[in-house]
Amino acid sequence: MTDTPATPGIHHVTCIAGDPQRNMDFWVETLGLRLVKRSINQDDPSTYHFFFADREGTPGTSMTFFPWENMRRGKVGTGQVSRTAFRVPEGSLDYWEARFDEYGVDYQDRVDRFGETVLPFTDPDGLPIELVAVEIPDDDPTVPWTEFVPAEHAIRGFHSVTLWLGDPFQTEELLRTMGFEVVGTEESPGDTPGDERTRFAASGLVGKYVDVLPTIEGGRQGHGTVHHVAFQTPTDEEQEAMRTAVSRHSVRPTNQIDRHWFRSVYFREPNGVLFELATSDPGYDSDEPLDELGERLVLPGEFGSRREAIEAGLTDVTIPRNE
Ligand code: ZN
Repeated sequence: MTDTPATPGIHHVTCIAGDPQRNMDFWVETLGLRLVKRSINQDDPSTYHFFFADREGTPGTSMTFFPWENMRRGKVGTGQVSRTAFRVPEGSLDYWEARFDEYGVDYQDRVDRFGETVLPFTDPDGLPIELVAVEIPDDDPTVPWTEFVPAEHAIRGFHSVTLWLGDPFQTEELLRTMGFEVVGTEESPGDTPGDERTRFAASGLVGKYVDVLPTIEGGRQGHGTVHHVAFQTPTDEEQEAMRTAVSRHSVRPTNQIDRHWFRSVYFREPNGVLFELATSDPGYDSDEPLDELGERLVLPGEFGSRREAIEAGLTDVTIPRNE
């Protein structure tokens, strides 16, 4: 079938945080990502929605957070994205370990995985993250943001997500339908020892991997856990084709929802992880100039008419600046 839809890879990952200022300081200053959008949770306008990405908010680079201050600490477990991994240039892990020492970041020993070196660490809410050293090609689609971290070490979008699944079979069938293919299986040291990690790859360059680990580990959503992972369906036509294709896997996709910077379809995959399909357009620079992204609180659509009340309900935050 020539018209089989296939995602190029991850579009964004959305997580739950606690204190919004602490979240902002860590992702902007310590990790050096750019705040490309400061908005509100469109389903809960009393909560921020922060989007941290590369310089241009390229699809495949944005890590987003709902800082739900009143929620409890979560626990990573089965039916969740257990690890989110970012690409960094080959040779930059020494820089990152030194930076983590300087900033007091909790990191673990490096591990080798599918021939690549992985540096695992956690953010201030306990969210498990990894940096993976990879060769970044000259024509890479990502553009480094260099306010706090020099270009030669900067995070360059997603590498992968790891799914912890009780019974991977149906999810793996779904991933194949979405255009992922198995590239290898190996033991997974330092994660859930003894378990086999199966790596799936999509056709793109950024965020192209999904790793699957069969795991029975009770978890709960809260601070330091992933809320959902979104995959790229660049156009409406590709998204509708993918929506139709995944419907054959006993999942129930929503209708398309306008998220203002992309249009989205959501469904829970068979093991309960919330998946999203997101278009590439209109993008984070559709309602702010590229050089002013994140500067102001953006209230899309009808929320704009309630700015005063919404701002009054939000904690003040300061965007970190390098001097
Ligand atoms: Zn999303």
